[in-house]
Amino acid sequence: MTHIEDALVHGSDVARTFGEGAAAVVAVHDAHCVVFPGDHIAVMGTSGSGKSTLLHLLAGLDEPTVGAVTWPVIGTRSQLRPGPVGVVFQSPSLMPALTVLENVTLPLLLAGMERDDAQRQARQALGTLDLEELAEKLPEELSGGQAQRVAIARILASCPRLILADEPTGQLDHATGSHVIDALVAVATTTKAGLVVNTHDPAMAERFPTRWTMADGRLTTPEVCTCSA
Ligand code: ADP
Ligand code: MG
Repeated sequence: MTHIEDALVHGSDVARTFGEGAAAVVAVHDAHCVVFPGDHIAVMGTSGSGKSTLLHLLAGLDEPTVGAVTWPVIGTRSQLRPGPVGVVFQSPSLMPALTVLENVTLPLLLAGMERDDAQRQARQALGTLDLEELAEKLPEELSGGQAQRVAIARILASCPRLILADEPTGQLDHATGSHVIDALVAVATTTKAGLVVNTHDPAMAERFPTRWTMADGRLTTPEVCTCSA
């Protein structure tokens, strides 16, 4: 039996509306969901179905209009970053003026780690993803797949509890995208983190043991039937 107090994130009756009155768009409504350590979940749905809105709510990057999102084993919204919650976007959002190593080191410095320790931990994360040889390169010198894997190494360095990825393979060809999903799953498995990946590609979703579906802002998650009748 799994208990909500052991969850990494719990969304209860969550809704998010953008705009007001006649122009209001209900991007997510009545969403109930929970992610536990070790869960690997793909969120499927067409463009505009509300996947990004849901992910931003689970990441604490946005707040629900109705309902509540909590992070029972992590803490409050202000304790999510840098560190426990790592977010990967469609484009890697690396700082263009910083080298790969500096990019991976930066969140650790911001979290208060000493420079030597931060660099050691960042190099270790790059090594885990076979990216050591890119350490001194600038983001503009990387391929799309390499940049996305550096973004994943940056999360790994901060020892994540929960990894949320919003269409991380959306701008990559299938083989490169597959390699990026491999990296995400490997990092989540090594760290025993929970992993949630948004995708509109059924072939990517197939690779996850659990699949949620978004359609018109409505989330469907597989539920264990507890009814006895
Ligand atoms: P998906 O990621 O599945 O493509 P989104 O969560 O981006 O879907 O969007 C869901 C709906 O909410 C869409 O109709 C979109 O236009 C709307 N939406 C998303 N973000 C905003 C915003 N910041 N302002 C207004 N409408 C938004
Ligand atoms: Mg989206």
